[in-house]
Amino acid sequence: MNDADLVIIESWQDVPLKGGCSACPQVIFDAAAFIGNKRQQELTLTAMFSVHYDQVHKPPDQLLTNWPSHPAFRASGNHSRRKPQK
Ligand SMILES: [Zn+2]
Repeated sequence: MNDADLVIIESWQDVPLKGGCSACPQVIFDAAAFIGNKRQQELTLTAMFSVHYDQVHKPPDQLLTNWPSHPAFRASGNHSRRKPQK
């Protein structure tokens, strides 16, 4: 499931101040420093979310067309299979 979307967390008089990602509860986009008009705030939050989405969630079609069944990186090497010793 990749249900990431922009969520408005905090607003003031109908002007959005803080937004978040519906898939990442710990992520907050703070646009309070850019207080202007409502449209500008929405653009700022949308831009912040777009950056986050590209970094974390990626375009869904790319993931679906080439989804690896194994992790992208693996522990390769001849010396990586030591038995634990005490
Ligand atoms: Zn997210």
